[in-house]
Amino acid sequence: MRVIIVGGVAAGTKVAAKLKREDRSADVTILTKGKDISYAGCGLPYYVGKVIPDRESLVVNTPEKFAALTGAKVITGMEVTKVDRAKKTVTAVNEAGEESIREYDRLVIASGASPIKPPLPGLDLPQVFFMRTPDDAVELRRTVEAGGMKRAVVVGGGFIGLEIAENLTAMGIRCNVLDMAPHVFPGFDEEIQIFVENHLAEHGINTMTGTRFEGVTGEGKVEKVQTDRRALKADLVVLSIGVRANTGFLKDTGIELAPNQTVLVNDHMQTSDPDIYAVGDCAMVTSRITGKAAWSPMGSTANITGRMAAGNLTGKDVAYHGAMGTAVCQLPELNAGKTGLSEAQAKEAGFDAVSVIMVTDDKAHYMPGAGSFIIKLVADRGSRRLLGVQVLGKGAVDKVVDTCVAAIAMHATVDDIADMDFAYAPPFSTAIHPLSHAVNVLMNKMDGTLETMTPAEYASGAAEGYKVMDVSLKPSIEGAPYVDLTKIEGEVEGFAKDEPILLVCAKGKRGYLTQNRMKYYGYTKTRVLEGGLAFNEVEAE
Ligand SMILES: Cc1cc2nc3c(=O)[nH]c(=O)nc-3n(C[C@H](O)[C@H](O)[C@H](O)COP(=O)(O)OP(=O)(O)OC[C@H]3O[C@@H](n4cnc5c(N)ncnc54)[C@H](O)[C@@H]3O)c2cc1C
Repeated sequence: MRVIIVGGVAAGTKVAAKLKREDRSADVTILTKGKDISYAGCGLPYYVGKVIPDRESLVVNTPEKFAALTGAKVITGMEVTKVDRAKKTVTAVNEAGEESIREYDRLVIASGASPIKPPLPGLDLPQVFFMRTPDDAVELRRTVEAGGMKRAVVVGGGFIGLEIAENLTAMGIRCNVLDMAPHVFPGFDEEIQIFVENHLAEHGINTMTGTRFEGVTGEGKVEKVQTDRRALKADLVVLSIGVRANTGFLKDTGIELAPNQTVLVNDHMQTSDPDIYAVGDCAMVTSRITGKAAWSPMGSTANITGRMAAGNLTGKDVAYHGAMGTAVCQLPELNAGKTGLSEAQAKEAGFDAVSVIMVTDDKAHYMPGAGSFIIKLVADRGSRRLLGVQVLGKGAVDKVVDTCVAAIAMHATVDDIADMDFAYAPPFSTAIHPLSHAVNVLMNKMDGTLETMTPAEYASGAAEGYKVMDVSLKPSIEGAPYVDLTKIEGEVEGFAKDEPILLVCAKGKRGYLTQNRMKYYGYTKTRVLEGGLAFNEVEAE
């Protein structure tokens, strides 16, 4: 079997390596445009920030090493320009412009995606960067190390943009992150996005949202970034406004593409031509939760789909269950992760979504380095299925995210998770695991034991008409009456039993305990502010 693979980074090399392990006799050739294969695109921001010291560490395998290790042939500097499905050939052009034609029995498209480069002025100035290959990162770091770079504008507030901003900030460069969307950090719910924006501002990264990038100006070097609001001074610019699938060479082949030009595949990673597979960033997969088309241009998905395709190419029957929107990102002194549906996405998908935001210890509070997780859970009210999680914290947010990946993938309900036997010892976790703890709070809310106001509701003015009661461990809200929960033994002076009262404490837990007690004494309209003062800016009036 002759297999040609177009593209040799994450997905292409995964297909080749697995395929050769499954069938050593397969004649596997990778044709790839660049000079590097198998590099860690995900590591580029950390190379820029010198967390990764040298370029070599970014490149997992050279073509020679990879070929020796796997038995696949690797031809670099070779761009596939045409696919002839009838003849089962591909046409490719090398760096010298010479054309060659190769025959295949099976073809794998693993041509990835490239950064979007809008047709705007000034993008050819030397201090304007895109981030995709090791050379992009090398050039950016070299420019920073050459000195004189004081201000950077990062255009695009997605994961890549924020990771670059974090690393540039750590190198002493003042960063502005521009985004056309109302908030940075796509895929998270708005209140989480706002929390992250405030956190970034506290760490020297300014976000300018709802702002359109209109180009760069400067005489031979970057001087200003133009936007629809105002011009920003800048010494360097990094553009990370998204990626577009590299599928131009499939035009006129009849292979079905999605509207965003990714290749449509079935759950076996086969395109509309059963002898042609597509994997990685250039392929459109489905959502494991909704079953609808979902693009997942992630290194994780590239590797998983590559492995799946290799299995199917060797005659196995391996179905990909779909992506879940899982992501994790390091920000200055804050990690952020998510999987599944956000509340907004769940509502859009037609679920009767119920959510909770809670703040809990990330490990036993008496251990050195203990901190908090802010966890937002989203579930379906009727079926009680968990649909999504968003987690912020200094600690191992990926632990909560990955646990939810498994739970959501297996259709777990909140009741299933509540008593799962998670690992516990003080250096790692809490006796009731942070996720179970969050699930318990959500179940209390779903069952009516806990009545809350969400941060989103509070921010949109739902607290109007409520009297704020400060129920923190010690008085913490200026101008708000303070009540010590342990002293409540009946009517609370100054609060009528039928008046709307918003219970606010540090994280939410004391609010819940207070509500529980006040309900017993006949208070009917209390609400606990989810996330308390850790997540909300609260004013007494
Ligand atoms: C800065 C950065 C940070 C990231 N961080 C993360 C992260 O933390 N987690 C995560 O999961 N993902 C992350 N990603 C995404 C991840 O790197 C990509 O999802 C992954 O590289 C996709 O792999 P791929 O093989 O599908 O495509 P690519 O990596 O794009 O590789 C495709 C290759 O095919 C070549 N090619 C294209 N067209 C042709 C053609 N016609 N002929 C021959 N060759 C062709 C391209 O030149 C390229 O070398 C990050 C990406 C970047 C840029």
